[in-house]
Amino acid sequence: MHGEQPKVHVWRALREPVLAGVIWSLTALGCLALRDALGGVILVWVPSGVAVAAFYVVRKRHWAVLALAMLPIQAATIWSAGIPLAEAIVYSISSVVQSAIIASLSTMALGGRSQVPRKFRQLGGAFAAAIAGCLAGALIAIPFRAEQTVGEFSWWFMANVHAVIIFSPILLNLVRKLTARGNDVARSGVEPSLYPLLLACAGLAMLALQISQVTLMPLLVAAMVMIAVRYGQVASLLVVLVYAVCATALSIFAGSPMPHLGVGAGEATLVFQTWMLTMLATALPIAAALMKRQQLQRELIARNREMRESLTLFDLAEETASIGRWRLDLVTGEQDWSPKMLEMNGLPRSLAPDPGDLRHRLPDGGSEVFGQIARNKETLGTYTFTYRIRPTNELERVLRMTMLNEFDQRGKRTAVFGVAMDVTEQVRREEALDTARSRAMRLATEAQKLANTDPLTGLPNRRCTFSKLDSMSLVAENCGSPLSAMLFDIDYFKSVNDTYGHQVGDEVIQRVAEIARAQSRKGDVVGRIGGEEFVWLIAGTQESAARLLAERLRQAVEQGFTGTRLPSVTISVGLAYFRPGDDCESLLARADAALYEAKGSGRNRVQRAA
Ligand code: GH3
Ligand code: MG
Ligand code: MG
Repeated sequence: MHGEQPKVHVWRALREPVLAGVIWSLTALGCLALRDALGGVILVWVPSGVAVAAFYVVRKRHWAVLALAMLPIQAATIWSAGIPLAEAIVYSISSVVQSAIIASLSTMALGGRSQVPRKFRQLGGAFAAAIAGCLAGALIAIPFRAEQTVGEFSWWFMANVHAVIIFSPILLNLVRKLTARGNDVARSGVEPSLYPLLLACAGLAMLALQISQVTLMPLLVAAMVMIAVRYGQVASLLVVLVYAVCATALSIFAGSPMPHLGVGAGEATLVFQTWMLTMLATALPIAAALMKRQQLQRELIARNREMRESLTLFDLAEETASIGRWRLDLVTGEQDWSPKMLEMNGLPRSLAPDPGDLRHRLPDGGSEVFGQIARNKETLGTYTFTYRIRPTNELERVLRMTMLNEFDQRGKRTAVFGVAMDVTEQVRREEALDTARSRAMRLATEAQKLANTDPLTGLPNRRCTFSKLDSMSLVAENCGSPLSAMLFDIDYFKSVNDTYGHQVGDEVIQRVAEIARAQSRKGDVVGRIGGEEFVWLIAGTQESAARLLAERLRQAVEQGFTGTRLPSVTISVGLAYFRPGDDCESLLARADAALYEAKGSGRNRVQRAA
């Protein structure tokens, strides 16, 4: 088994080259027989087409094998036709060099081995490759020929060019058709309806070649162009091939050259070859353009289908997500409303795509929407805003619109595109939440105030006053700033209650609070810490000044009841200054002691703490 494997490899590597060599050989012998035995003109040196096709089909790394196989087969074939061996070897070398040049150049021009020329550039490249390769081949071969005239060179060159341009693509197409398995390349094959047309072309060619008074060639060219348009490049090549076959056939039966041309066989051949070149140069570009158009059309159809599909998907998404779509062309003024957008605006879907100017339907006359559009004249990204609409017979709704500008190539805005979302519920929820939040805040503030305020006088209550004194002591302790605490109590208040009643007692307390508040300044704290016991806290004032303030308060209370219907009262004041190391309790304890002293020494007086 192991010994057999290399053999299989060798056969695989040699299969294509040998097959190509055999076909080359058969076509060469056929052409030579046509010319030599039957006296026909050879317009297309078919074997060259076979060789180029072979180089085209075989991968580049196998070209050496191909060349090694082709060279002896070709040389032997030519030699067997009676040509000296040395000459035969040169011709086969010329053929192989020519084929390799054309195959590699046209592969480059087409951008791949399996590519068919679709663009003019590719077609031109393939033509140039054929001409360059054939020129090289002719330059190698002609010096070894017996006759070295321009005519001989031209015939050799043209017969090879035609073989490459006409026969190679037909052969390659056939190979592709045979090897392709239902893929795209197979479609480039020839349609059956072409065969009767080719027959008709053959008839026309026969006529054109035989009638000497008028030339029917333009008719044939026209037929070829039409066939190129309908069936593509390979079909148009087949028409040229039909013409060549007809010319050769007629040259056999009617004698060579064509009687009406009145020239020798060599010149007649050149005339035919020139005609063929004209036909090719006319039809192939048209076929290429057509193929390009068909390709574009196919792409366009595919893209349209894709777009339709995505639009359907988009519509579905729009429905599901309750999103409306709107586009305003700023150049033409045309609008494009999606059905959902119309529905969101309380309009019938049938008004799509352009319901006209609806600004008057907006509560603000469209000032938000069109103001935003105007302000975002140069915005490159999206911009979002909300606006209100009032659909017929419905409550006002809120839409959130996200917009995107569309610009032309010069950067000028040409359209705006927006998607709108109904956010009414969300906005209502947010608004309700806001109301609830601010109400809760107000209640909390009120509760806080109530918790800190004495309801009778509106002064800070005991808890609040103590807490303020706490922080003031902290400041005094840390910054060394002065702090005075005045504790004052109404004198003989029990008797006020007893004499005038509790109600009047309350009013007296309120009046004292009022007087004390009027005496205090910003930053001071006046609080009610007991029944008819108050505190006045003064920060940032020196001891002497605080004593004056205490005295002033005492006097103010003493005189503060004249002219009122309330009984006059006095207060006793205990005054203490903050000392380092003091806290709220120790400071107040000293003030309290001073107050007690003031009471003890006759009341209606200010007593400094010791
Ligand atoms: P002193 O000069 O020693 O302070 O004598 P006083 O009569 O004022 O004695 P004291 O300060 O102990 O009296 C407090 C009285 O104040 C007791 C209570 O009946 C009365 N009182 C306390 N709170 C209120 C209040 O809110 N309204 C009224 N009308 N009376 C109150
Ligand atoms: Mg008291
Ligand atoms: Mg009292």
